[in-house]
Amino acid sequence: MPLPEAEFLEAKSLLQALLRLDTSNPPGNEKPAAELVRSALAADGIEAVWLEPSPGRVNLVSRLPGDGSAPPLLLSCHLDTVPADPARWTHPPFSGLEQDGFLWGRGAIDMKGFAVMALTVFRRLRRSGRQLKRDVIFAAVADEERECEFGSAFLVREHPDLIRAAICINEVGGFSIDVHGTRCYLIQVAERGLARLRIRVPGRPGHGAKPCPDGSVARAAPILQRLAEARLPHHWNEPAARFLEGIIRLSPPVEKAVLSALRHPALGHFLLHHLIPPGEKRLALQSILSNTVNPTVIRAGEAINVVPSEVIIEVDGRVVPGSSSAELIAETRAILGPEPVIELLHEEPPTVFSPDTEVFAAMKATLQEMDPGAEVLPYPIFGVTDSRNYAKLGTTCYGFYPLPLPAGLEFSALFHGDDERIPVEGFRFGIEALERLVLEIC
Ligand SMILES: [Zn+2]
Repeated sequence: MPLPEAEFLEAKSLLQALLRLDTSNPPGNEKPAAELVRSALAADGIEAVWLEPSPGRVNLVSRLPGDGSAPPLLLSCHLDTVPADPARWTHPPFSGLEQDGFLWGRGAIDMKGFAVMALTVFRRLRRSGRQLKRDVIFAAVADEERECEFGSAFLVREHPDLIRAAICINEVGGFSIDVHGTRCYLIQVAERGLARLRIRVPGRPGHGAKPCPDGSVARAAPILQRLAEARLPHHWNEPAARFLEGIIRLSPPVEKAVLSALRHPALGHFLLHHLIPPGEKRLALQSILSNTVNPTVIRAGEAINVVPSEVIIEVDGRVVPGSSSAELIAETRAILGPEPVIELLHEEPPTVFSPDTEVFAAMKATLQEMDPGAEVLPYPIFGVTDSRNYAKLGTTCYGFYPLPLPAGLEFSALFHGDDERIPVEGFRFGIEALERLVLEIC
């Protein structure tokens, strides 16, 4: 059912107010945003639990009770954002400006837009007085953009009973892409795991005034290059396969043949790098089919006149479903040789959720009813979200932030990008789609 215009305008101005609050992480400072959300809940007489594990870092959790005949649903959003450099934006990133059919601001996509969609649906459920089968839980959390330590990880560790649910609806999925003229909505069903590495490269220390071709810096240079250019082996995994099957179905013959060739167990890896031109598309495919290693932190040297005895390289390693940190380390070792010391700093396994569920079917049906002719595909993301923490409680999590995007405007450019903005009509569509889904499954 269409959302009454007055309620849509209220949602829109709430989103604009949230976009005007700078919750860039670091430092986060989600508190003013959480206050705004709490007062919106209070306007409908809904209480929320306020959890502040560190000053200014706030999580809000609220619950509408069902009759208990089905297990709870969690609607989760985070209130922090990545930082924004105003010099690179067309409009100031914390303006919440409405212009050209968009609401502009850091967080419009990631993910204050969904926060207001979920909040609006939650308040309307309460107002309707409808009897629910499931408890519906609304959580607005902190710190997703760093380590989730003050947000979902904290909730899962310290307050699991507040957020324990059978299903979680979260971000990085539900948006549309254009596949050869077909609008295609991607619902997230998998996230890669983490394997953060530290590589130590020793070398002969010396005086900066004398050349040092066997020093640590000289030895680190080819290692950095090999890491940055690494093409680790393919791991043909189920979530990537399901996604690519869908894309292949929608592709013209030549593209069909190319993508189908990637399945080849021995040659797929080679073909990816020879048949698909360099660029975003190849990198995206590489990231769902292979483990990746990205050198992101380099530490060496204190004084300009001393050759350091060691270079430390920290590597953001990501593990596709079906692989493991141990495998990623072995693959890294194979490209670096026996010498450098590789330490595993932190690991988290990949998370995979089945698309063969009633909830997935309901999400797909909702999108296709609201946007006839559109396709819906399960989709593995190459990053992570709060879902990996909720998964530890046995929750099945989907990225379902319904958002039709105009052809030519890509989610990947908006997500953490300059000029982040949400189409106003897409925002309306998202509220309506989410409400239909929640009514259907709850
Ligand atoms: Zn996010």
